[in-house]
Amino acid sequence: MRILVVEDEEGLAESLRRGLSADGHWVDLAHDGHRGLELARTGPYDAVLLDLMLPGLSGYEICARLRADGDPTPVLMLTAKDGEYDEAEGLDCGADDYLTKPFSFVVLSARLRALARRAAAGPPRPPPPPPPRAQLRDPPRPRSRPRPHHNDFPVPLPPPPPAPPPRGGGGRHRRPPLHPPGR
Ligand code: CA
Repeated sequence: MRILVVEDEEGLAESLRRGLSADGHWVDLAHDGHRGLELARTGPYDAVLLDLMLPGLSGYEICARLRADGDPTPVLMLTAKDGEYDEAEGLDCGADDYLTKPFSFVVLSARLRALARRAAAGPPRPPPPPPPRAQLRDPPRPRSRPRPHHNDFPVPLPPPPPAPPPRGGGGRHRRPPLHPPGR
């Protein structure tokens, strides 16, 4: 891997360069923030080891500017702070991982390999669209016919129509005589 180490503690920077070179990496060093940002912007790096507290520009600023440029180079933040807010701020500004000083070189090496694997895998894929079956569900059944309610009170049935008045006279239907005529 091609690795940029931005670290103002020159002894630490040099020991990182020796260790990473011994692991087969190609290493550039920067000892202040402005030089670090310039190299990070122009060099073909696979990862940046970025100290947090730097003269010139802080590690936060360098990382945020790289991300604002659209630069996706993996950034491993090195910090002497171990407060959870500092770690969160480091990740929020676009760092991919962080290590709190003092750190083990073995762990640093493993984190770099993990960053390289993730970078090689590419950005996470968007979730797949839902299966078409979900769009072919049975249509909803029609609701049963609503009952004739008005404002939640049952509507009374209309009264039955009045019975027709009895037809007067009875002239059309003659009663049969009770007795035979002539008696
Ligand atoms: Ca520092």
